[in-house]
Amino acid sequence: VFGSLNMDLASRVPRIPTPGETILGSEFVTTAGGKGANQAVALAKLGVATQMIGRVGGDDFGRTLIAGLQSVPIQTDNIFIDPSTHSGVALITVAETGENQIIGIFGANGCVDATDIARLQPALADAQYLLLQLEIPIAAVQLAAQAGKAAGVTVILDPAPVQTPDLTALYPHIDFLLPNEVEASQLVGFDVHDLETAKTAATQLQRQGAPTVIIKLGAKGAFYQTPSASGFVPAFTVAAVDTVACGDAFAGGLTAGLLAGLPLANAIQWGNAAGALAATQAGAQVAMPDKASLEQFLHQHCN
Ligand code: ADP
Repeated sequence: VFGSLNMDLASRVPRIPTPGETILGSEFVTTAGGKGANQAVALAKLGVATQMIGRVGGDDFGRTLIAGLQSVPIQTDNIFIDPSTHSGVALITVAETGENQIIGIFGANGCVDATDIARLQPALADAQYLLLQLEIPIAAVQLAAQAGKAAGVTVILDPAPVQTPDLTALYPHIDFLLPNEVEASQLVGFDVHDLETAKTAATQLQRQGAPTVIIKLGAKGAFYQTPSASGFVPAFTVAAVDTVACGDAFAGGLTAGLLAGLPLANAIQWGNAAGALAATQAGAQVAMPDKASLEQFLHQHCN
């Protein structure tokens, strides 16, 4: 996984504040997050040998983030501790409905550049999959995707947060694009919120050169479109308490399923199951299911 590490500063609120409104939060917690690190934890907890490559600042947050990944365990030798800046931070509010609002402050994530690609390159020699997100500069993501493609690994991009509605320069270097409804809407310029609009969006994205597109539709499930096939994989019904990082759990479940040799629709089902389990617990990385929980959940819900 090449990408972001953040310290999440999270609190619960009765509802998401409107612009200019002050709302009283409660249950303040500081937990490890960042889309990159979340994806790495999702993968490693599902039993996939995982390395995280990225940057933290020379501060306590950075040291805590690295130690947390090591305890999973995740290989962290190529995470650069950048003394010139602070670690990435995300300010998260989670409403009683499970809805959330996130403000990311890039810090060290924003400094990821070509020197980090030099750290990525040797790791690619042993890798089968490279997971990317856009919480680091898009120029670095572009270089990483190119390096991944050149090394013959399967490259998966979660386009969050959308930095530009035009990702076409990335498309030739990735194999899977995993937007959620909001990101898909930003990329296509119309509201994507259900199966019909997801189909139209996937077709438009592929016309622009996107590879296999999997649009995550929250509690509804996920729609996929490869160059030759398409389908909808419904979500599992759970009591959601916190949907932060469901998409990262999805990326981990999907990749673990593909690594296990499953057909795409079944690997997406693993993604949906990992996302559903992540929604049932507060926090990002702590909410990622392990292999036994995922298998038990699938056994209970699928026949
Ligand atoms: P992101 O976290 O990237 O915004 P989504 O919210 O669409 O992505 O969640 C990713 C996946 O997690 C969904 O496709 C779905 O399978 C699962 N998921 C998310 N929210 C829920 C929920 N409330 N109930 C069941 N599954 C969910």
